[in-house]
Amino acid sequence: MGPDSVVIAGGGMAGLLAAAAASPFARHVTIIEKDEIPVEPAPRRGVPQGRQVHALLGAGQNAMSELLPGIVDDFEAAGARMVDSPADLAVYGRFGWAGRVRSGTRTVMMRRPVLEHVVRDRVLDLPNVTLRSSAVTGISVTDDRSRVTGFELLDGTTLEGDLVVDATGRVSRSVEWLGDIGYDAPQEKEMRSHIGYATVEVRLPDDAFDDGVAGVLAHPHPGNCRGAAVVPADNGIYLIAGLGMMNQDPPRDLDGFMAHLDAAPSPIVGEIARKAEFLTDIATYRVRGSRRRVWEDLTHRPDGHLLIGDAVMAFNPLYGQGMSVAACEAVALSRSLSEDSSTAGLAQRAQTAMKEVIDIVFAMAVSTDGAYEGAELIGVQRPSADDMEAGALLSRVATDDSEVALAVKRYAHYFDRVALQSPSIADKLAAWKAGNRDVLRDNPLVIPGIIG
Ligand SMILES: Cc1cc2nc3c(=O)[nH]c(=O)nc-3n(C[C@H](O)[C@H](O)[C@H](O)COP(=O)(O)OP(=O)(O)OC[C@H]3O[C@@H](n4cnc5c(N)ncnc54)[C@H](O)[C@@H]3O)c2cc1C
Repeated sequence: MGPDSVVIAGGGMAGLLAAAAASPFARHVTIIEKDEIPVEPAPRRGVPQGRQVHALLGAGQNAMSELLPGIVDDFEAAGARMVDSPADLAVYGRFGWAGRVRSGTRTVMMRRPVLEHVVRDRVLDLPNVTLRSSAVTGISVTDDRSRVTGFELLDGTTLEGDLVVDATGRVSRSVEWLGDIGYDAPQEKEMRSHIGYATVEVRLPDDAFDDGVAGVLAHPHPGNCRGAAVVPADNGIYLIAGLGMMNQDPPRDLDGFMAHLDAAPSPIVGEIARKAEFLTDIATYRVRGSRRRVWEDLTHRPDGHLLIGDAVMAFNPLYGQGMSVAACEAVALSRSLSEDSSTAGLAQRAQTAMKEVIDIVFAMAVSTDGAYEGAELIGVQRPSADDMEAGALLSRVATDDSEVALAVKRYAHYFDRVALQSPSIADKLAAWKAGNRDVLRDNPLVIPGIIG
């Protein structure tokens, strides 16, 4: 028999998607959210990163579609722009322009509050899901402390559930709450690469981009920690963002912001920004890096208590993974429930099922951020020189070869390594290395056309 009731702290992306995952198996699902939810899509206090540019990766879109069938149509109806991102978004990185390739996939581009609004509408339409407006202040447990039974709320009441889910994001206090009743904290792995963001909503003239290009990303890299992006969002709006690694934060004043864009590896974003009509203030945000709490390996923990989203693993946002990983984790919860919906041991089964996607994405974060001099790795091995060289070779070949470019995108957007492991790609990498070839598409001023 499935859980009678599931209670979820936090109504951000992870909490909403956890509710969608639990809804078919539970009688009641309650999301507890401390923010007042805006009637129209709008940034809110509990999601302070909401003003910053957000991309939904293919893996996240597929996972959301599995949990909420037809959600992509809802995104489109809310004004989302659809792109074939490996072809339509031009990315200039450490080794030049990533090969632009058609993938035949279409992913949504929209502002974060609009995306969350659509997901929330769908989830709250589910007949057994309700939203309770309150702040969670602690957990309740059985007398022997072997099981978490609910959340304590600010108004002094307790909301009980057979499954108690912490989806409160980076500010999660589960470590402290469990510590107070004698449980050890999970191992923490951290990668501090000190990331700064500044984003503004704009309108652009029709001829802002070259034909076939919908957005441009000039990625920061260890040789230049200042990056920039201009990407389409919903309803004809574009987002222009300054991105900084290793404390190179983009400023919020216009002159400083423009100087940051101009200093990015390609100056094209700065050029486009000069043609833009700015619609909002420039909003800034900073994060320390990626932090993973290895809850699934904790041998002694109470039953009934599950964590999802940034509460488990919060990523360096530059790679656009957080919401997508939360969606994949929610799918892992859904599959755990469909394999065995009994409540005993459910939390640990679901937490363990989330490990696969977290391992893959955490390894990506370590291999990219680990290449920055001065990045602090805590509880994590710095990638070896050989690993970094292998990554660099892959990026170089991906500027020129459509199969390699597509396989790299598949890994980055779908967390799927299979294509990268094909023998033909190994041959191409070996041939490039043996020929000591140079990258040709590395002029930062000229976006190359589609390859392949
Ligand atoms: C600058 C920046 C850019 C990003 N860009 C991207 C991107 O391009 N693509 C991407 O996929 N991800 C991106 N992310 C990551 C993404 O925002 C998060 O991974 C994602 O929002 C995680 O969702 P969550 O539900 O775990 O946490 P959150 O979205 O932070 O939601 C937590 C929720 O819990 C509520 N809450 C907190 N405490 C309590 C409490 N005590 N009681 C009740 N409610 C509570 C909050 O109000 C909030 O609603 C970015 C992050 C940052 C910082």
